[in-house]
Amino acid sequence: MRAADISDQLTDVLVTEEQIQARLRDIAAQVAVDYADKNLLLVGVLKGAVMVMADFSRALPTVAPMDWMAVSSYGAGTKSSGVVQIRKDLDEDLTDRDVLIVEDIIDSGLTLSWLLENFESRGAASVEVFALLRKPDAAKVHVECKYVGFDIPNEFVVGYGLDYAERYRNLRDVAVLAPHVYA
Ligand code: 5GP
Ligand code: MG
Ligand code: MG
Repeated sequence: MRAADISDQLTDVLVTEEQIQARLRDIAAQVAVDYADKNLLLVGVLKGAVMVMADFSRALPTVAPMDWMAVSSYGAGTKSSGVVQIRKDLDEDLTDRDVLIVEDIIDSGLTLSWLLENFESRGAASVEVFALLRKPDAAKVHVECKYVGFDIPNEFVVGYGLDYAERYRNLRDVAVLAPHVYA
């Protein structure tokens, strides 16, 4: 579904599907160059990153192995708890792998800074981050992010994998939820 289909439930559309796809193509081309001689492993963070991973990995011109991790720091609300919980661990051994974490969004940065430390302690050769979205004004900790799709304002957004209470993940655009939806 597109933002226009549910415009009564949204305020601003921040990033359209077309803008996302164009940006993913650019970043995939850059990643292909940067990782040409490396042992790349894409690690998606469930569930928010499913759409980014699907489109980004297919935009790569090379074979790229993929693994998934499920962590939770939010519950059903809209504010970070700061507590990171592993719900599903990786299947792959990270030893000597060049890990590229694929994330939907960096908000406080707490989840990613925890993940970076965790992956480095498992013997990865390198660990870098690609986040489709980033909220610079919401940062509580600094996270070194090699690839960023779009910087957005400090508002709660949904769509393109991002949910509110498991809804709106299948929205193709990224948009701000209307306040009446929370009520
Ligand atoms: P953190 O605050 O640790 O950087 O973000 C943790 C996770 O919370 C993100 O990976 C994402 O899944 C979720 N999150 C952060 N900001 C938003 C937002 O604006 N909308 C939605 N739907 N989820 C968010
Ligand atoms: Mg996420
Ligand atoms: Mg969520």
